[in-house]
Amino acid sequence: MLRAANRLFVAGKNSAWIRCLSSVPQTKPEVHFNKIFINNEWHNAVSGKTFPTINPATEEIICDVAEADKADVELAVQAARSAFAFGSPWRTMDASTRGRLLSKLADLIERDQNYLASLETLDNGKPYSISIAVDLQMVIKCLRYYAGWADKIEGKTIPVDGDFFCYTRQEPVGVCGQIIPWNFPLLMLAWKLGPALATGNTVVMKVAEQTPLTALYIAQLAVEAGYPPGVLNILPGYGPTAGAAIAEHMDVDKVAFTGSTEVGHMIQQAAGRSNLKKVTLELGGKSPNIILKDCDLEEAVEQSHFGLFFNMGQCCTAGSRTFVEDDIYDDFVELSAERAKKRTVGDPFNESNEQGPQIDEEQFTRILGLIESGKKEGATLLAGGERAGDRGYFIQPTVFGDVQDDMRIAKEEIFGPVQQLLRFKKLDEAIERANKTSYGLAAGVMTKDIEKALHIANGVRAGTVWINCYDVFDIAIPFGGYKMSGTGREKGEAALDSYLETKSVIVRTPQKNS
Ligand code: NAD
Ligand code: MG
Repeated sequence: MLRAANRLFVAGKNSAWIRCLSSVPQTKPEVHFNKIFINNEWHNAVSGKTFPTINPATEEIICDVAEADKADVELAVQAARSAFAFGSPWRTMDASTRGRLLSKLADLIERDQNYLASLETLDNGKPYSISIAVDLQMVIKCLRYYAGWADKIEGKTIPVDGDFFCYTRQEPVGVCGQIIPWNFPLLMLAWKLGPALATGNTVVMKVAEQTPLTALYIAQLAVEAGYPPGVLNILPGYGPTAGAAIAEHMDVDKVAFTGSTEVGHMIQQAAGRSNLKKVTLELGGKSPNIILKDCDLEEAVEQSHFGLFFNMGQCCTAGSRTFVEDDIYDDFVELSAERAKKRTVGDPFNESNEQGPQIDEEQFTRILGLIESGKKEGATLLAGGERAGDRGYFIQPTVFGDVQDDMRIAKEEIFGPVQQLLRFKKLDEAIERANKTSYGLAAGVMTKDIEKALHIANGVRAGTVWINCYDVFDIAIPFGGYKMSGTGREKGEAALDSYLETKSVIVRTPQKNS
């Protein structure tokens, strides 16, 4: 599948679409769109400013991109507001047609998936084999899933006292601001656009400054799919400027954010200070993964390795506190270190590599700093511990044993390829320590004993629990955090709720007894 030749469409100079054939991966995908997308048109920033986006595997600039700021957000919100006007083409569109548009968008992404996967790898650094086989397929399925929901969003009729007929309508919230991160640029876009567009909202999305390119290509596909102007607006730019302008805007009805807990605080505060817009947040984690002595050891080692190292460790769900039962601790540690040493790191376009670079210099430096803190605080370094190579933001797969709960590497979100192995003796001790964190995003359990598995699943305070697996992300499964890992749920039917308002309509009817 990965090597199959695929039809690729690229935009020509005068925006005509040129059809050509391409085999994959394209190691130098051309960039066609690098401006701000408002009202189905491409714009320079009002300020005229641009910023570079960088290939993290080489540290080279890919291209400059228009830098949206407050003034551009203003234009985008105006466009989204007009598109949402009562009686507009979007508001009067049949629900089934809304579903058809989303489905068409999924088809167009599928058509261009090899190009998009290549561009994602270039801009983000994730291995091409993952971009195409995981990210792109999940994006396509996500949009198709929400396309199916568009004409199945129903209200109720309610038997109220007296002579009244009461019904509810599920209506779109309005103009939705969406701020997404760089770790899954296309997938985070799909998780946010799918439910927002299926329910008839309009969107102003700010993409991460590290990875703006694939979202901009999707914008052009949305035009091709037939979305009316202003329904979807996509702005590349920085957080404290463009992102903050969305969060504090008086005419944005809702903001959905994925990223750090630190910025999550700011988003919620900005909403509180401005118009009390609705807020959903998907934030960080320090997820426990609990390994019991009766697990299938080799399988548990592999699952835990995957649960931490997948996507260069840049997953909010990363199983970054692996609690291992005393009896098997030494064996687990040895096998985990061996596995990490075998992990292949390098050029993300080379399909034999499991791991590419970290996203940018800031993350790279931060992760190396946390690795140093682990060494200093007395954890045992079992694998890695240094940068890999001398160019690009590559880090060796790193494993620490003898990790204690109060070490920085056991408390802080590392967002890198650094695995922490902690020892425990009793089941309830593991649950208690697993919950001793301000986060509550996900958890894992590896055991053949279903009763123990369910006991742990009930006891951990986390939005998702994986038993004998990790990072299973079917789009139908609701996803979100307890505690400071977030507010609200994405994916599944649950995601629709935060994009809908319930309107109750009460009609006086003739008296029953007259
Ligand atoms: P971040 O939270 O700063 O960035 C995420 C998004 O928020 C980006 O689009 C960014 O431009 C925007 N943003 C930043 N400041 C903002 C502000 N004041 N107002 C509005 N929007 C703003 O994350 P980061 O700095 O790229 O990474 C830092 C840490 O965040 C990582 O080490 C990791 O722990 C965590 N993180 C989590 C996720 C996740 O999926 N939950 C994703 C990325 C990063
Ligand atoms: Mg930041």
